[in-house]
Amino acid sequence: MDGDLDRAEVLISALEHFSYCPRQCGLIHLEQTFDENIYTIRGQLSHERVDAGEVEVTAGIRVERAIPLWSDRLGVRGKADVVEFRQDGPYPIEYKVGPPRGRHADVQLCAQALCLEDMLAVPVSRGAIFHVATRRRREVEFSDSLRARTMSLIEATRRMLVSQVLPPPVNDARCQRCSLAESCLPDVVADRVRLAQVDKQSFEPAVEEASAP
Ligand code: SF4
Repeated sequence: MDGDLDRAEVLISALEHFSYCPRQCGLIHLEQTFDENIYTIRGQLSHERVDAGEVEVTAGIRVERAIPLWSDRLGVRGKADVVEFRQDGPYPIEYKVGPPRGRHADVQLCAQALCLEDMLAVPVSRGAIFHVATRRRREVEFSDSLRARTMSLIEATRRMLVSQVLPPPVNDARCQRCSLAESCLPDVVADRVRLAQVDKQSFEPAVEEASAP
């Protein structure tokens, strides 16, 4: 298992999924479940330009799109939607189409920054999430705490991928905004998990019974 853990590569995009809900990450990256909805279709359309790999210079800043990223040190790989090469260093930008879902995308962006630092041997201190619907950027600072959270999520995601075990449902407010709810069936599965626990307990001997000679 340790060897598998050492070798298993984590996709940067899996980190946002794991941060939002480990089961969502498992459904997508272990079981290849993908529900198409209005946001995923819009996402594909808005990524068409990004995926074209164009390079342009705007206001003196070189802007590159669809840049492959990796870090052998962290065992991650993926792609940056956009990187602006500013005077004070690279500035990654991640495009998001759906409604904002808290700060979960920040770990994905931070992993991109960690890769850029490893690949280019320069510090990357800030980046941004670009919300396509509002055409607004939200700047993200790659603080020590965000870096630590990102590294810890990389390891947790890797452990889940190597174990091949689908995590249990969170079955809370997150499910109402999850595009995989129909495939996940969080209520049904959570009930089944609870039922299995009750079943197991009902077959376990009582403490006095178990310790009797
Ligand atoms: S429906 Fe809920 S438990 Fe299932 S993947 Fe989505 S957020 Fe996670």
